Amino acid sequence: MSMINCEHCGKVFNSNGFFKVCLDCMEKDESDFTKIKEYLYERPNSKIFDVANDLNMPVKKIKRYLRESRLEILEKNNHFLFCEMCGKPIRSGKYCDVCYREFHSNFKTTYISSVRQKVSV
Ligand SMILES: [Zn+2]
Ligand SMILES: [Zn+2]
Repeated sequence: MSMINCEHCGKVFNSNGFFKVCLDCMEKDESDFTKIKEYLYERPNSKIFDVANDLNMPVKKIKRYLRESRLEILEKNNHFLFCEMCGKPIRSGKYCDVCYREFHSNFKTTYISSVRQKVSV
């Protein structure tokens, strides 16, 4: 257990090292997420900016849910969320399919080669 500052509200709280936000913010986060989900359930073709306006939520927040892959944008060629590697529009997460695969195959290669190194020593 250690005392850290909540990433959202800055309050000092007891963390087990895994959580970066305090319990209050986490609960708020959950209820905001539920609100977005309900909104989209009723209006499946909403634009992100409509969601932000109607629910009175910062667009940044909705973007975070998208990055965390908890939400997904319907249209493929949106001009809102982009791959962090190549800049192509994506629907959720951080990378497009191509970069995601690339990233993971690179990861595998590094892992194998480092094992080989150990064996040869
Ligand atoms: Zn907080
Ligand atoms: Zn990409």
